[in-house]
Amino acid sequence: MQSKLLINGQLIAGEGLAQPVFNPALGSVLLEIPEATPAQVDAAVLAADAAFDGWSQTPPKDRAQLLLKLADRIEVHAEELARLESLNCGKPYSAVLNDEIPAIADVFRFFAGASRCLSGSAAGEYLPGHTSMIRRDPLGVIASIAPWNYPLMMAAWKLGPALAAGNCVVLKPSEQTPLTALKLAEFIAELFPAGVVNIVFGRGPSVGSPLVTHTKVRMVSLTGSIPTGSNIIASTAESVKRMHMELGGKAPVLIFDDADIEAAVAGIRTFGFYNAGQDCTAACRLYVQKGIYETFVARLGEAVASIRYGLPEDPATELGPLVTAQHLERVAGFVERAKALPHIRVVTGGNKVEGPGFFFEPTVLAGARQDDEIVRRELFGPVVSVTPFDDEAQALAFANDSDYGLASSVWTADVGRAHRLAARLHYGCTWINTHFMLVSEMPHGGVKQSGYGKDLSMYGLEDYTAVRHVMIKH
Ligand code: NAD
Repeated sequence: MQSKLLINGQLIAGEGLAQPVFNPALGSVLLEIPEATPAQVDAAVLAADAAFDGWSQTPPKDRAQLLLKLADRIEVHAEELARLESLNCGKPYSAVLNDEIPAIADVFRFFAGASRCLSGSAAGEYLPGHTSMIRRDPLGVIASIAPWNYPLMMAAWKLGPALAAGNCVVLKPSEQTPLTALKLAEFIAELFPAGVVNIVFGRGPSVGSPLVTHTKVRMVSLTGSIPTGSNIIASTAESVKRMHMELGGKAPVLIFDDADIEAAVAGIRTFGFYNAGQDCTAACRLYVQKGIYETFVARLGEAVASIRYGLPEDPATELGPLVTAQHLERVAGFVERAKALPHIRVVTGGNKVEGPGFFFEPTVLAGARQDDEIVRRELFGPVVSVTPFDDEAQALAFANDSDYGLASSVWTADVGRAHRLAARLHYGCTWINTHFMLVSEMPHGGVKQSGYGKDLSMYGLEDYTAVRHVMIKH
C-alpha cells in the first residue's frame, strides 16, 4: 500500500510533517504518513475545480457506472479493507467485514441509482407567456472532512452523494485513521477521471483549515465534533459556503415498565457497545422506569459483563480498544469523576485494562442524575449511564434536556406511547424497540447542536445540489 495523497489523478507523496498512525490494540506505531502542505491542498482544490465542468456534465448513468465499479472494487478487496480498518481503529475484524463493508458498498450502489433519479421539475406558467422550470444542479468543489470512528464508511457517506450529484470532492480523512482511505485513493485513481476526487491527509489545523477556507470550495461537509463544527462555521463565514454538519450525539434510550426487558438488555449490550461505544448514535444515556429499574440494571450488568474484549483479529472479540491513548485517558477521566460521586453505582466495569493497548472495560454506571457530566456530555466510549424515571412526562423531559439532537430510542409495548414520544423527541431519529439501525434509503442527521443536513437517502443527495430556477419567455 502506498502512503500517497491523490491529487489530480496522481498518487503523490505528502510534503508536510510526517504523522504517526497507531495500532490501538498494541499501542504501537504502524507507520508514518507525511501530511499535505498548504500548496498541495491548494493543488487538490484547483484540480477539483478544473474537473468540475466535465464531471457535472457527465450523464448520470455514466457517473453511476463509476460509483458501481467502486462498490465492486470495495467488495473484491473486502478482506484487505477490513484488515486495515481493524488494524487502524481496533474494531473487531469480523464486525468490519460482515457489518461495515457490505453497508459501505451499498451506500455507493444506492447513490449510483439515486443519481439517475435526481430531477428538477417543470414548474409551469406563473407569468403570462413565460414557463418556469426547476433544476437541481451540483454546487462545485466540496470539502469533505471525516472523523476516525468509521473512516471508510464516512468517506462513502461523503463521496457517494457528492459525486452522484455531479460535484467534485477534496476528502480529508482523520489524521488518526488514514489507512483505508489510502487504499480507496488507489481505487479512485484507477477508476475516476483526474481531479474528480482528491484525497489529502493530515491534521485539522494544518490541512483541514486551508481546505475548508479555500475560496474555490463551495460546500463543507463535516462529520466530527461540535467544537470542530463551530470552528469551521466561524472560519468560513466570510466566504458564505454551504455547510453540512454531522456532529456529536448523546442518545437517550427510554425504557418503560411495559418493555420487553430481555430485548432491551440485548439491544443495549449491542448498540451501546458497538465500536467500543465510539459512535455518535450509541445507546449510552439510559432512562429506565422505576417499576423495572432494579431488575433491568441487574440484567444489564450481567449482560455487559459478558462482553468479550480483546484483540481485534480474534473472532471471539466483541469489543476492541479505544482509538488513541489520549482518548482512553479522556474516557477514563469521565468514569473516575463519576465514580467519585456518592450516588453513582458501578454495576460492572469502570476501569482501564492493563496492557499496551488502549482498552477500557465495558461499563454500566447506575444511579446517574440528569446533571451529572456522564449524562450530559458525549463520552464516546464503552460506558452507559442509567437514570430512573417516574412517568412518561419525566422521561421525555430528561431526554430532551440536552444540547444534542441526533438519535433516540423508546422501548415500550404501548404503540400509542411510542407514537406520542416519537412526535415529541427533539432528535433526528427515533427508533422504537431497537436502536442504531441505518439504511441507505433513510436520512441520518441531527437537530440542535448535533448539526444540520442529512447523510444517506435522497435528502442527502439533494443536500449536495442547488435548486435553480430557469424561466423561458415564449
Ligand atoms: P473531530 O471534530 O476532532 O475531527 C473530525 C475531522 O475534522 C478530522 O478529520 C479533523 O482532522 C478535522 N478537523 C479538525 N479541526 C479542523 C479544522 N479547523 N478545519 C478543518 N478540519 C478540521 O472529531 P473526531 O474526534 O474525529 O470524531 C468524533 C466526533 O465525530 C464525535 O463528536 C462524534 O459524535 C462525531 N461523529 C458524528 C457523526 C454523525 O453522523 N453525526 C458520525 C460519526 C462521528
